[in-house]
Amino acid sequence: MRWALVGASTIASQHMIRAIRAQAGSEVARVVSGSRDRAEAYAREHGIPAFGTDLNEALADPAIDAVYISTTNEKHLKQALAAIAAGKHVLCEKPLAMTVPDAAAMVRAADEAGVTFATNHHLRCSGSHRAVRALIREGRVGKVLSVRVFHAVHLPENLQGWRINSAAEGGGVIPDITVHDADVVRFLLDEDPVSVVAQATSSGMGQGVEDSAMSVWAMPSGAMVMSHESFTHPFAGSGLEVHGTQGSIFARGVMTQKPVGEIELVDTADRHAIPFDAHDLYITGVAEFEAAVRGEGSPAATGIDGVKSLAVAAAVREAAEAGTRVTINYGGMK
Ligand code: NDP
Repeated sequence: MRWALVGASTIASQHMIRAIRAQAGSEVARVVSGSRDRAEAYAREHGIPAFGTDLNEALADPAIDAVYISTTNEKHLKQALAAIAAGKHVLCEKPLAMTVPDAAAMVRAADEAGVTFATNHHLRCSGSHRAVRALIREGRVGKVLSVRVFHAVHLPENLQGWRINSAAEGGGVIPDITVHDADVVRFLLDEDPVSVVAQATSSGMGQGVEDSAMSVWAMPSGAMVMSHESFTHPFAGSGLEVHGTQGSIFARGVMTQKPVGEIELVDTADRHAIPFDAHDLYITGVAEFEAAVRGEGSPAATGIDGVKSLAVAAAVREAAEAGTRVTINYGGMK
């Protein structure tokens, strides 16, 4: 598969170029940036044969099969719609768009065009999250009563740009990290949160956008979810806990881009260390996307998954701003 990168981004350079090149027969054929100099420098640094600033020129190239969009969040909508209209398959970064209706429009456009459209929610590609999901599905914790997600990290200095100071580009910890946590919970429990209450604040990094958020979600099954995201916590560590009537799962250090961490299941019998596969999350995500394009299964996280994670995040922000419980609006997505 021949890919065009839309966005000369950090995530592409740190993970996605490698993940695409790890697929047999796949290549990164082009990069499109807002700046010609940057496009050229990025292409040279990463050995990408073609570069430019004109998205339409890239999309007119019949040799391009798929587009990976990793620009700042406000650009995703227009770029994805253009790629879909050109008949390209699209893997788009989270959050899919700035609003739920915009994200839903992307999904509908892809459906109508008959192209594969997916969201790059990497966490559901990890061996650790898949192992936790399997434990829940096998009934090892009984009925799930509650989930706790702790995802308060320290945003690396090289990423302390638009994420902490630009609402217009989709900054803030809620669109950045809460979307991931929403996807994780939906993936683990196979149900969509119904409503949320939340608080958000700026605790030293955010300038005009929140850098920390805590929220509580109600699930249709009656389970409750507690979620914490931040850019300002150097030593908190990440993880998730799933507590059920027959057992509890403690997954530590697993809210990350790397295949690391540890999982323990505690029940009346014992404390069980749970092994999991340590494959690369991004390579797995691209492999499943490419398989979906070939008609083999669906992407790890579909476009609908991206709409729904954004819907939860949007409700968290709205609830924090309004100080009230907010019912989540999934934009008509089933
Ligand atoms: P970056 O800030 O690195 O890149 C975003 C845009 O900023 C790029 O498209 C580029 O514009 C511009 N840019 C990047 N570096 C520079 C620079 N040194 N000088 C000038 N401009 C620069 O963002 P991220 O890679 O962190 O995030 C991009 C997207 O990916 C976001 O939507 C984010 O939410 C998502 N993301 C997803 C992750 C995941 O694991 N799924 C992890 C990290 C991010 P241009 O293209 O015009 O050159």
